[in-house]
Amino acid sequence: MPKKTKPQRNTLLVHAGEPKPRIGGAVVLPVFQSSTFEYDGQSSYHDLKYIRLNNTPNHQTLHAKLAAVEQAEAALVTGSGMAAISTTLLTVLKAGDHLLIQKGLYGGTQDLVTTELPALGIEVSFFDGDRPETWESQLRSQTRAIYVESMSNPLLDIPDLAAVVSFARQHGLVSLIDNTFPSPVNFRPCALGFDLSLHSATKYLNGHSDIVAGAVIGSRPLVDKVLHRLNHLGGSLDPHACFLFHRGVKTLELRMRQHNASALAIATYLESHDGVEKVYYPGLASHPRHARAKELFDGFSGMLSFELAGGAEAADHLFRRLQFPAVAPSLGGVETLITRPATTSHAGMSPEARREAGIGDGLIRLSVGIEDAADLIADLEQGLGIS
Ligand SMILES: *Cc1c(COP(=O)(O)O)cnc(C)c1O
Repeated sequence: MPKKTKPQRNTLLVHAGEPKPRIGGAVVLPVFQSSTFEYDGQSSYHDLKYIRLNNTPNHQTLHAKLAAVEQAEAALVTGSGMAAISTTLLTVLKAGDHLLIQKGLYGGTQDLVTTELPALGIEVSFFDGDRPETWESQLRSQTRAIYVESMSNPLLDIPDLAAVVSFARQHGLVSLIDNTFPSPVNFRPCALGFDLSLHSATKYLNGHSDIVAGAVIGSRPLVDKVLHRLNHLGGSLDPHACFLFHRGVKTLELRMRQHNASALAIATYLESHDGVEKVYYPGLASHPRHARAKELFDGFSGMLSFELAGGAEAADHLFRRLQFPAVAPSLGGVETLITRPATTSHAGMSPEARREAGIGDGLIRLSVGIEDAADLIADLEQGLGIS
C-alpha cells in the first residue's frame, strides 16, 4: 500500500469541499437556483438558508475549496472584489478608527479609502511599503489595521510583506492583503501570517473573464465576522456566478503554471528588444524586487508591463498591429489583454502624479493569457516591427 499523503493543490482544487455523498449522484455540483430553503430548526438569523446569507451548497463548496488551496481555516465568496474589500474594511474598522494603507493601490480601493471611509469617520494614512523604518511614526492610538497588495499595479512592486506581518503583530493591528495578482498558487498570505487575504475572483481565481466575484480568506473567527457583515450589507454572490467560479477555479493551478511560464518568456523576449526601454516583471533579475519575489512566491504571475522607447505613439502603433491580445482592462483570464495605464487605470491621475509614480505615457500593461507563448512572442515581434 502506498503511504497516505496529504492531497496536493490540483487535487484540492478538484475535490476539496465537494459534497459527500454527491447530491443526487451528480458528479458536478448543480446550481441551487433557489433563493430560500425549508426551515430546519435554525435559531440564528445567519443560519437561515437564503442566498443573501451566503450559505447555499454553491457558496459552501467554494468556501471550503478556497480555504484549502490558500492554506487557511475559512473563506467567503462575495459579489465582487470590491465587495470583499469594502465589507472587510467595514468589519475591522469603525468610526474613530485609523487605517494604515500602502501607497499605489488598485484604483477602486484607492477611491474607496479616500472617499467612503473618511465620510464614515475612519481616517486613513498612506505608507511606503518598502520603508518599514517609517511605519512606526505613522501609528496612532486608534490605528486598527494595516493593508497592502502583494504585487502593485502596473509596476509589479512587492512591499516588504514579512515586515508588514511582524509590524501588525507587534502593534496589535489586523493585517489585510489584496492577493489578487499572485493568486493562491503563487502566494499564500495566511501561511506567512496575514490575518485576511482578499481577492478579486473576477481575475485569476475564476480565470475566464465571464463573472465578477470576490473572496475573503483567513481564520474562522475573522471570516465569520466578515460573513455577518456581508449578510447585512448584501454583497453576496449569485449561485449561478458561484457555479461558474467553481468551474473556473478547478483549473487554477494548470492555468497559473502557464501564465507564469509565458509571462517569464515574454518578459525575457521584451527585455532583449531594441524598441523596448524597460520591462517590469518580478521574475526578471533586473526587477528591483526580484530577490523578495523569489523568496516569497512560487511563481511570478502573468502580469507584466513595459515602456516603449517610442512613447504613446509607438504604443498606439503596437495596439493596432497586434493580432491576439485584446485591448481591454481587467486581467487574469485565459486570453491575453493589453492596456495603456495612462489612458485606463491611471487616467484619473494628473500627468505629473503619473510620472512621479513611474507610469509613463508609453507604459503598456500585459495580462498574459494561456495562449502559446511562442505565438504571443511572434505577434509582439510583428507588432513592434516597422510598418
Ligand atoms: C480588479 C481588482 C479589484 C476589484 O475587483 P472587482 O472584482 O472588479 O470588484 C481589487 N483589487 C485588485 C488588485 C484588482 O485587480
